[in-house]
Amino acid sequence: PTVLKDHMLEVPKVRWTDIAGLDDVREHLEAMVIRPIKYPELEMKFGGTLLRKGLLMYGPPGCAKTLMAQAIATESNQNFLAVKGSELVQMYVGESERAIRNIFRRARAARPCIIFFDEIDSIGKSRGKTQDSGLNIVTTLLNEMDGIEALKQVFIIAATNRPDILDSALIRPGRFDAHIHIGLPNQDARKQIFQIHTRKMPLAADIDLTVLASRTEGSSGADIKGLCAIAADMALTEYTQHMTESGAAEVRMAHFERALNKHVPHT
Ligand code: ATP
Repeated sequence: PTVLKDHMLEVPKVRWTDIAGLDDVREHLEAMVIRPIKYPELEMKFGGTLLRKGLLMYGPPGCAKTLMAQAIATESNQNFLAVKGSELVQMYVGESERAIRNIFRRARAARPCIIFFDEIDSIGKSRGKTQDSGLNIVTTLLNEMDGIEALKQVFIIAATNRPDILDSALIRPGRFDAHIHIGLPNQDARKQIFQIHTRKMPLAADIDLTVLASRTEGSSGADIKGLCAIAADMALTEYTQHMTESGAAEVRMAHFERALNKHVPHT
């Protein structure tokens, strides 16, 4: 795809293999985002009712919502525009509306393109409850979404940890009308997440990822990634200070044990 020079436009390099345990979400995303591009005539033959302009991903923080949006863009060779809801609400009056119109204009120019609205609740929740600017931002977003046609190669993904406080206008048919829940990883997925985040580390023979997965029930992917970084840091610190028992530059189970004692899952 054409790549525009703009700080918000990125071509992500996240692959499906970087993400553990979300195969069903992947299939869902592919059917919604890739299939219409690949087989537009088939979609129409089936009535076009499956066509979507936007989808909402919701669930606890640190569970790969952003990662999934980036991966679908990478794997389908699309441009990717990322925007944070919190950044939009912090702008001056009128500026956020201009920013939204700008984002859609850029996305149309960079087709095929995925627009990713992270923390969509921060704009949705303000309508009617707090300041007027929230209302204008939501209205502008809805207008822009209404102006996009399905199959026109601009797809909008929104993410939130708080689906309960979303403006209901955002999730009506024709808007973010497909909803995908991304929950905390199970035992298998946690083991795979450990695998992914330790694959570039020198691991000692005593490392047991199954044990680590069972010790981290309730943790998010981001928690596990953090845990791996702490363990690696401990191992390296120990090694550079010549305190290793084995004398080897590697991460041992003991480092993970210590990291686990230090690290409290926050999700
Ligand atoms: P937030 O709601 O806080 O924005 P999010 O759901 O968008 O979170 P990401 O930003 O995608 O979460 O994930 C944070 C980091 O955690 C990722 O960059 C990735 O390194 C790691 N991670 C989370 N889930 C997984 C997973 N299933 N497989 C591999 N890595 C993961």
